[in-house]
Amino acid sequence: MNDDLRTRLAEVDARIASAARAAGRTPEEITRIVVTKFHPASLVRELHDLGVRDVGENRQQELTAKRAELGDLDGLRWHFIGQAQTNKARAVRAGADVVHSVDRARLADALHAVAEPGDVRDVLVQVNLTDDPGRGGVAPSDLTALAEHVLGLDSLRLRGLMAVAPLDEEPARAFERLAGLAASLRAVAPDADWVSAGMSHDFAEAIAHGATHLRIGSAITGPRPDRR
Ligand SMILES: *Cc1c(COP(=O)(O)O)cnc(C)c1O
Repeated sequence: MNDDLRTRLAEVDARIASAARAAGRTPEEITRIVVTKFHPASLVRELHDLGVRDVGENRQQELTAKRAELGDLDGLRWHFIGQAQTNKARAVRAGADVVHSVDRARLADALHAVAEPGDVRDVLVQVNLTDDPGRGGVAPSDLTALAEHVLGLDSLRLRGLMAVAPLDEEPARAFERLAGLAASLRAVAPDADWVSAGMSHDFAEAIAHGATHLRIGSAITGPRPDRR
């Protein structure tokens, strides 16, 4: 067993718990997703041994391969947090228990079109907090329209919204804006109360502003191997 991994996981969990308490929240209401992108499937196995059940991947091929390799592990939930191409919707839907990155109606339609009868997938709408329209996520002004579109697709269950803090802004300010967007989402979809926000360097600020799902990579896994 990798003692460094165990130590980093415990340290991050302690920091999550103290940030939650500082915000008057309980750690139990927060889901810590360990982002394992670029790391081998063996790392996910070690994390599972340490009790981790929620893991995140940002590339469909890697998600598909790791899920296949780790099919023997009980109770793992795979979160897809990357940009998805519509022509990969079937593989994304098959590989992910939760899709965090629905950022356009066409992608929602593609995920819906490949659904097996009766199968419902949890999804979040990704919102772009930067001024750069090239970044992932729907513009805040289009959030409600996209949410309403997703609500009309019965194979998708809209759970909330996801965002990445811009690099050139204080994370706390960005997450404050996100909290406002989360409230406007709940106005049209009262059950969509998940807020997926917070990474290795800003999860405490995200917790202070209501994040329910943290996506933490390097603080737990250590530095990522070079992009393959
Ligand atoms: C890689 C990634 C993370 C985790 O990043 P760290 O800085 O390693 O914690 C979170 N969210 C998304 C969308 C990512 O691609």
